[in-house]
Amino acid sequence: MSRQNCVYCGKEITTRSSEHVIQNALGGLYESEDICCPECNNYISRCIDAPFTKIFNPIIGKIDNFSKTNNPKSMPSCTGKVLYNNKIYNAFIKNGKVVGCPDLSRELKTDISKLPLQIVAYDFKLDNEIFHTGMAKIAFNYALDKGIDLDTLKHGLNIEKTANDIQKISFTYPMIPFCPLNPVDYYIELETDFNLYHNMILFSQESTLWCYIDLFNTFQYYVLLSDNLSQGINVYDNYAQTLQKIDRTEPELDIYRPKDILIYAQQYGVEPCLDKAEFSRRIKNAIAKKSQKKALESIISDKMAAMPIDYSLRIAQDPKKLLPFAHSMRLYFDDNDKLRTENFRTITTDVQGYVVPYPYAINTVLRQDQTPLRSYTMSKFNRLTNFLNQKTK
Ligand SMILES: [Zn+2]
Repeated sequence: MSRQNCVYCGKEITTRSSEHVIQNALGGLYESEDICCPECNNYISRCIDAPFTKIFNPIIGKIDNFSKTNNPKSMPSCTGKVLYNNKIYNAFIKNGKVVGCPDLSRELKTDISKLPLQIVAYDFKLDNEIFHTGMAKIAFNYALDKGIDLDTLKHGLNIEKTANDIQKISFTYPMIPFCPLNPVDYYIELETDFNLYHNMILFSQESTLWCYIDLFNTFQYYVLLSDNLSQGINVYDNYAQTLQKIDRTEPELDIYRPKDILIYAQQYGVEPCLDKAEFSRRIKNAIAKKSQKKALESIISDKMAAMPIDYSLRIAQDPKKLLPFAHSMRLYFDDNDKLRTENFRTITTDVQGYVVPYPYAINTVLRQDQTPLRSYTMSKFNRLTNFLNQKTK
């Protein structure tokens, strides 16, 4: 059943407008027509999505064949740090190349374009309202699309409006950064090959409702959507997708009669249309999208299957690691090595092997000591930087 009224302005939705749950500019493919009216959609994309997606320019500007559909040619620039002669300098970077480094140019009084400058970091501005609001909006949209009642989500949604117009929409849900607390999560996040994907997990724990968001397999947060969930409501859903289009050849379409169009439309799950060029474009898009949707189970299983023998031997020989590893393996995988999806990122094992809710456990750890999170975040960003640097060559 479709939503009758816009969640922001409350007006009746007369024209359906499609909203990307994860922003289109970030390659998000999940769309929902069930959230807001076209005017509010426009506000959200201008005032929340546009500044938010800019944060990720270092990634967007580097990925070949990126999956986003709008402006596929635009290669945004970004800032970062470069290493030259054992010193670190701020730099402007475009398409993986250093295009400006004012401090170094001033110091050397020479053209820096020929110098061997190594990019050692990209700047991501995460500690601000823009980032917070953008992440929270993803969680809010995902929950709404999965049928969570607007009243349940209201406490973190702020709307300033006059009689007719929206002045400002903001989201103030509390957020907890993800930090792996068990050996399997450490392995998955830091020891496997880096590849780009987005993942969302919506889940309830007693009266709380959480959305775990992982963007580009680097920006990982829990968003607390509600601490007032009605008793007996049990929520679980997840979504995952990869981020690079897989080149597929277009199928040969033998269209002679209008009926042929209907047959193909059904086969590929697209809207039929009589314009043959437009119709084959729709089919091509449908195929590309399908190839990128990936089950969370298969992403994680692939990573586990690739575990090197010497890694598992190292664990087996270390009495301090063996037991926690066994505990977390049992938490995540059944006897047939199939992922217990509902446990993944929702609960973890603590040092004694007890099962605890993940976001609370992280919160408890971080209240005592921020060091594990700092070192984890640094490792994740190093992996991302290495990945982006490789892509240049
Ligand atoms: Zn509206």
